[in-house]
Amino acid sequence: MNFQFQSSLGFQIKTFSVGQLQCNCSLVWDPESMEAIVVDPGDEALRIQKEIVDLGLKVRHIVHTHAHFDHVSAAREVHQFTKAPLLLHPDDKYLWENVAMQGQFFRIHVDPLPPWSENLEHEKALQIGKYRMKTLFTPGHTPGSCCFSMNEILFSGDTLFQGSVGRTDLWGGDFRQISSSIKDRLYTLDTDTTVICGHGANTQIGIEAKQNAFVKK
Ligand SMILES: [Zn+2]
Ligand SMILES: [Zn+2]
Repeated sequence: MNFQFQSSLGFQIKTFSVGQLQCNCSLVWDPESMEAIVVDPGDEALRIQKEIVDLGLKVRHIVHTHAHFDHVSAAREVHQFTKAPLLLHPDDKYLWENVAMQGQFFRIHVDPLPPWSENLEHEKALQIGKYRMKTLFTPGHTPGSCCFSMNEILFSGDTLFQGSVGRTDLWGGDFRQISSSIKDRLYTLDTDTTVICGHGANTQIGIEAKQNAFVKK
């Protein structure tokens, strides 16, 4: 997917898919200060670096919706390049520390990761210029899965997809948990919230709350 968006409030987003599993990596920035957040540096570190340089961004935070390898594989390089802290919910510690094992399971080579820098928790806010991104703790796809909300935009990771939800048959997945996370913390957002998913096309909260075959409101 390739997506560019300017919020009515002024912040900007560029999303592009990376790696064999085509994880959507997003750059979110304040066009005045050029301060930015990287969401899910899943692979293709050089491509992510080039986008950061071309746009002239000052990356302040690198956030991960969860620690499946397709969302974190370029974390080390993007961290080294930007010096920005890596943020992760601590309940995904096992996955972060065993990222090479996860890759083997899909026959993809992944290098081990350095320790992450800062914990995510429910409602933790991350500032770029005058804008705030808010963390929503939404376990189920993995024990530490989070979504990130910024005004009319939601980054849903692998928790909610267009017409679907994240699989719960991998390490620590739990269908009951993902259902309540989606109902209590995502379907309660404004219906016209645009959802940028961890893979595939965007959707809207109102559409999923009505039509999603796996978890309905
Ligand atoms: Zn995942
Ligand atoms: Zn994924």
